[in-house]
Amino acid sequence: MKDRFQREIDYMRISVTENCNLWCHYCRPKSGSCTGSEILSYAEILRLCRIFIRLGIHKYKITGGEPLVRPGILEFLEQIKNLPGISQVTLTTNGTLLGDSARQLAQTGIDGVNVSVDSLDSETYANITGKDCLNDVLNGIRAAKEEGLLVKINKVILPDEEMEDIWPFFEFMRKSGIPVRMIEKMPLGSSQYVEPKLTGDRILRELEQKGWHMKPVSQSLGNGPASYYKAAGIRGYLGLIEAVHHNFCKDCNRVRLLSDGSLKTCLYEPPRLNMKNLLLEGLSQDELLEKARTEIFCKPPSHHFLEKPSSEEMYRIGG
Ligand code: SAM
Repeated sequence: MKDRFQREIDYMRISVTENCNLWCHYCRPKSGSCTGSEILSYAEILRLCRIFIRLGIHKYKITGGEPLVRPGILEFLEQIKNLPGISQVTLTTNGTLLGDSARQLAQTGIDGVNVSVDSLDSETYANITGKDCLNDVLNGIRAAKEEGLLVKINKVILPDEEMEDIWPFFEFMRKSGIPVRMIEKMPLGSSQYVEPKLTGDRILRELEQKGWHMKPVSQSLGNGPASYYKAAGIRGYLGLIEAVHHNFCKDCNRVRLLSDGSLKTCLYEPPRLNMKNLLLEGLSQDELLEKARTEIFCKPPSHHFLEKPSSEEMYRIGG
């Protein structure tokens, strides 16, 4: 469907849990609660998806918290993937549990896995995530590749990071052929916006100086607002997502369903409609569809991250 600004909304991120087995300091501060309100059951999510599909939303990303910690997730992935009208289901995970689940995950038929890895140095990784488990993640990525899953790496660029934090990702991409997407950290929850030392332009410049001649790729290689680059002779590609600096809102194609049932039509704005409450009130499929359609139609025009951080933490939203 199109919203009031004629943006085609065809992509939804569904968070299946706020729980996570990592404590990335910029995403889920230790003080943050991770239980609380009752969450949507898988059956409820599937029922809502049938409605969203009727609205033209056909690409889905399953997220969290950490989706692989929720019991029954693999069966759910298979069910959502098999819903008529869905063109793509992908998963975003911290990769810590991927080693054990890669085979079953591949059998669900999902279209790809994004693995969030913020450092390829074990100590730095443990400092960022609160857990010394980089090897588990790397083994998980290997297992997922071996099972034939399409894998991409997501790395958030933290404000104080320098190129020495970034080079290992290019070496990793060169050796493995796995695409790497660098994402600008957004000011959410308690964190104010801090100008990062590394911008997309600077990364491209530094790469050029090192002999990596990155050429822009014209076609979109994902669902998000990334700019993509490739270097001759390298199998992987680089994605740059400058969510704060380059305001992509005019082309935003996404909405979010949070684990408590909130329908969030803008990453920045608090949700106004709770689909779980509507289900509990006993609304029919058609009534639910009209409520969702109206809410999505009114999707806000733009974020205001540079003026004020959003009050929600990312572990609730799901990225
Ligand atoms: N646990 C899963 C994972 O690690 O991919 C899914 C949830 S996690 C919230 C989704 C993504 O959001 C991760 O790549 C994480 O790094 C990113 N993220 C968290 N806080 C962020 C922020 N403030 N700005 C940009 N990305 C953020």
